Amino acid sequence: MVQYLTKDLKKHELAGWTTVKEAGLEVRAAAAALRSRIGETTFYHVDKKRRESWQAVKETQKLATDGAMFANAEIVDLRVYAPFDWPGISIRGLKQNVAQAAIREAKARRCKGRKATNANIDQIKADLRMFCGHVPTTTQIWRGLRSKDLSRQAKNFLWKAVHGAHKIGNYFRKMPSPWKEMAECPTCGTTETMEHVLLDCPDSRQDLIWSL
Ligand SMILES: [Zn+2]
Repeated sequence: MVQYLTKDLKKHELAGWTTVKEAGLEVRAAAAALRSRIGETTFYHVDKKRRESWQAVKETQKLATDGAMFANAEIVDLRVYAPFDWPGISIRGLKQNVAQAAIREAKARRCKGRKATNANIDQIKADLRMFCGHVPTTTQIWRGLRSKDLSRQAKNFLWKAVHGAHKIGNYFRKMPSPWKEMAECPTCGTTETMEHVLLDCPDSRQDLIWSL
């Protein structure tokens, strides 16, 4: 992280931050915020042993960790630092592979994702806010779904569930009969959503499953 802001700053700035893995926007914001300071910024490396005995550093680190976990990191407002911000990519000396990566990233950003996926991600965030009191970022949710603590089957199931890709409910809605009728739960008559199957429908014997 420190190298992004010191030794390699120029390189990443010229490449429009596309060379910073995963956290391009955050590093760009950090660079702009640091540049907005009147004084010169100096970085000190504090090794683990010294950190343990240095209370102020320990507390700062805890605050930073909490901030990264609990803040909604997707809302990085660069307008505050507009005069110190350096967006975009430098054409001068632009290498082909950097340009290609940048175009790919811009395209991915423009492609807003599936409507059902976005709705599910919003729902996950809203539920976590209600039950756990904090909201992970979209990246954190996707990373959590790929956790090595989950079996391959569980990962697959969750991935499909978030994308609304299971063949239930609305999947059948636009088909002709007799498939069309399969969109609805035969017992309850409501649209068969994953939420209905897992939480509401008596057919799936969840009284038994959730009590296990
Ligand atoms: Zn039902």
